[in-house]
Amino acid sequence: MKHQPGPMVAQAAMPTPPDVALPAGTGPPAWYDQIRALLIQTGLPPEPAVYDVLWRYVRDEDAELSLAIDKALAGDGLTLGTVMSLRETLLGQMSEAQVNQLIAQAHGQAEALTKRIECGQTDLADYGRAIADGGERLAGPMDATALAGLLEQLSAATSTVQAANGRLLDELEQAAAESRALADRLTQAERAAVTDALTGVFNRRGLMAAVEKAQADAICTGRPWALAVVDIDHFKRFNDRFGHAMGDDVLRFVASHLAERLETDGGFVGRLGGEEFVGVMPATSVQAAAGRIDRIRADLAGQVLRSAVDGSSMGRISFSAGVAEHRAGEGPDQLIERADGALYTAKRLGRDRVVPDRG
Ligand code: GH3
Ligand code: MG
Ligand code: MG
Repeated sequence: MKHQPGPMVAQAAMPTPPDVALPAGTGPPAWYDQIRALLIQTGLPPEPAVYDVLWRYVRDEDAELSLAIDKALAGDGLTLGTVMSLRETLLGQMSEAQVNQLIAQAHGQAEALTKRIECGQTDLADYGRAIADGGERLAGPMDATALAGLLEQLSAATSTVQAANGRLLDELEQAAAESRALADRLTQAERAAVTDALTGVFNRRGLMAAVEKAQADAICTGRPWALAVVDIDHFKRFNDRFGHAMGDDVLRFVASHLAERLETDGGFVGRLGGEEFVGVMPATSVQAAAGRIDRIRADLAGQVLRSAVDGSSMGRISFSAGVAEHRAGEGPDQLIERADGALYTAKRLGRDRVVPDRG
């Protein structure tokens, strides 16, 4: 969609002012009107970050983004949290461009270094010629004055090559330092592109790449492996009660709670989006994985969260999870979908529980 109002526009619980219906048509004025209408409809703050996401949405620039926004608008509404996490995914994509830029820089640097070395070789070749020339002249008859002149020439050629070598050494050192800095920035950019900025676990892109790798590894080992989709229970309520910033703290807390417990055995965690995480457990059957996630769930649900500022209690937080074991030939999306189905059952059965996929 994007250029037409979604179903939620018409069904908004609040009386809709007459000017909020999304106008049909395309082009900057229509896009602006659509963004304005969406801001009014959702109550989102007109901040640059929000505007940026909505701009891409109305222009249908990114299929995944559009789908996620359509889903949110047709469901419980588009929240600031959703917009921010969508934007984070977009920024992740931008850092790929950043990575490419760094690679181009590295190429440029390698070329410059090659040129410097070539210059050094020219100096060395001149020196070689000077020595060979001196050698020839020494073989012939020579008086003291001619010898002194020759020595002077050789000494000057030596000084030239020494100076050139010194310059080359300095330049090599500088190039090595630049290469190290470039490599560090490249590593940082690569990491940022696959990391969720809020929680520090894999973002959606990193998660999908890691799941594909887990899949390839499992083909080699021939061992089963399983994946859990974890969704915090009643998180909206928590946000409403304690504020979005505290909600963010809970997301960080849950992410590290999962990561600490799953990474010990070669597993890993990623944030699928919002308050949903995926935990991957290599060399684990669905039963063992469900048991493991259930212990992690019980650990979390048994803790009372307190404000770091004044120690006041924020109660307990729980999650529900669906677990599925990988089937031969199945892609990451299908596997996540099955785990998600089991998660849905867990929610329906009353939350704060883990349900294995039995399909
Ligand atoms: P359920 O038990 O059925 O999962 O209920 P829920 O309230 O957890 O689920 P729902 O999908 O209704 O709400 C998810 C909430 O997560 C709404 C949204 O504001 C919040 N959220 C999504 N991303 C973020 C974020 O990055 N930070 C914060 N603080 N909240 C977020
Ligand atoms: Mg959810
Ligand atoms: Mg939830």
